[in-house]
Formats: sequence, C-alpha cells, structure tokens
Amino acid sequence: MMRALVYTIISIVAITFLRMVMGLITKGIGDLMKEETASTSGSASSRPAASGKTPTAGELKPCARCGTYVLASSAISSKDAKAFYCSEACRDK
Ligand SMILES: [Zn+2]
Repeated sequence: MMRALVYTIISIVAITFLRMVMGLITKGIGDLMKEETASTSGSASSRPAASGKTPTAGELKPCARCGTYVLASSAISSKDAKAFYCSEACRDK
C-alpha cells in the first residue's frame, strides 16, 4: 500500500521534472532559432568586435631600475615622465 503511494508520488515528480526539462529544451531551441535568424538577417550590422585597446587604470609598468612591475597609477614617473619606477628610492638611484 505504502509502496504504491511512494511509486505514484515518484512518477508524478518525475513527470513534472521531465515536463520542466522538455519545456526548457524547447525554449532553448526556440531561442537558438531566433538568434540564428536574427544573425543571418542582420549580417550587415555585425556586432562590434572586441577590438580597440581599452585603457585600464590598473596597467602594469615595469620599474626602469629594478624591473618590478607596478601599477601605473601608483608608479613614480621620472621628471620627463618617460620611465616608471616602483619607488622613489629606485628613481633617485
Ligand atoms: Zn624599482
């Protein structure tokens, strides 16, 4: 008796789960088809490539004296700003 009940519950859960998975799959396929048609129709306006160097604030600069890489924002530049140094000690050397 209990066994039958457990089986019924398990089958209900399984069916619900399967339906959910099937729904997700069909939705995924639909999204995929939509995306494909959109990309083929709008081929002229291709998405901008990941080009162009984006200046990063945390750019690393090698110390001209000891070679230690330091953040450009925290690096100490020489008087003519051509070289970077990790510390004032390196610059003054
Ligand atoms: Zn240094």
